[in-house]
Amino acid sequence: MKVDSVSGRYVHHDHIRPFLDKIKTRFKVAQAGISIQSISIDKITLGEGPVKILMWSQMHGNESTTTKAVLDLLNTFYNGSDKSDELLKRITLTILPMLNPDGAHAYTRENANKVDLNRDAQDLSQPESVVLRREFEAFAPDFCFNLHDQRTIFSAGPFPKPATLSFLSPAADPGRKVTGSRLSAMKVITCMNRELQDLIPGQVGRYDDAFNPNCVGDAFQMSGTPTILVEAGHYPEDYNREKTRMFVYKALWTALEAIAFDTYQVERESNYFDIPENKKLFFDFLIRNTQILEKKELPPYSAGILFREELNSDGIRFRPYIEKEGTLPEYYGHQTFDCINKGDLEKLRQKEEITRLFLKR
Ligand SMILES: [Zn+2]
Repeated sequence: MKVDSVSGRYVHHDHIRPFLDKIKTRFKVAQAGISIQSISIDKITLGEGPVKILMWSQMHGNESTTTKAVLDLLNTFYNGSDKSDELLKRITLTILPMLNPDGAHAYTRENANKVDLNRDAQDLSQPESVVLRREFEAFAPDFCFNLHDQRTIFSAGPFPKPATLSFLSPAADPGRKVTGSRLSAMKVITCMNRELQDLIPGQVGRYDDAFNPNCVGDAFQMSGTPTILVEAGHYPEDYNREKTRMFVYKALWTALEAIAFDTYQVERESNYFDIPENKKLFFDFLIRNTQILEKKELPPYSAGILFREELNSDGIRFRPYIEKEGTLPEYYGHQTFDCINKGDLEKLRQKEEITRLFLKR
């Protein structure tokens, strides 16, 4: 059930606080710690069941989609239904919706000390990393959900489909053995994938499982706790990620049900490995035959354009830049233009910010 007061890409602590104040009446809302710049790192606990689930979002400050999704999840529990009340008898859920509030405010991946918290799982050099580790040890969860956003560049496998959601059951050792906890995480991912295939067929990817103990997911998996990485990605024309938000919400709900009712156990490891691995094959715009746009005597070539996200007083601005040029035969565009086609050329000329990239050089 969507929380309408929180939307778009720029989501920081001031945006989520009114909602957390509202749900205080039903759920336990506490301060798990504070950030370097003294912003509260909040934690919400609900349910009274024996199965304990820990979720955290926005450890990378500019990755807000899953934060919106967990607020929607909390809102569903807050509004209540027979189904959600039944779930809360079976699980105890703790959510840290914004682990890196300083990064969220500045719209940066890193925290205020410019440290990537997802490379700090062993050093625990940052207060935010300590907060998460402390919650993990005190709560001793049966499942963890590590919630992120991914860039628009990812395709689900080598196909012309964006990875609207991607998952990983991280490795727990360099040999990437399928341990018991990894297998449980894989099975829950399989349940989410099945639900998503009905909604966004072919748009689910799987991350490669190279082991890095400095990453939080790998570190928690090493402790024997099934940990699931969720990466919210691109859906066509949804740069505010409001559609993806809904898909993440649905995936998380499916996962909670599968865990609460123990239905994930029957899933097979092979179904997890059948999910195509993420590839970096997309540009935001792919322009073919740019020599026509440039009015130059050049051999035919293509350009891949991406957006750089910049925070200004109005929010996030998407500024295009040329990422790659060449023949680029294997790449796809979320939007593709071929300058040989007069209609495409006309449309492109109306996108001044893009055509300027070619005309000014
Ligand atoms: Zn991330």
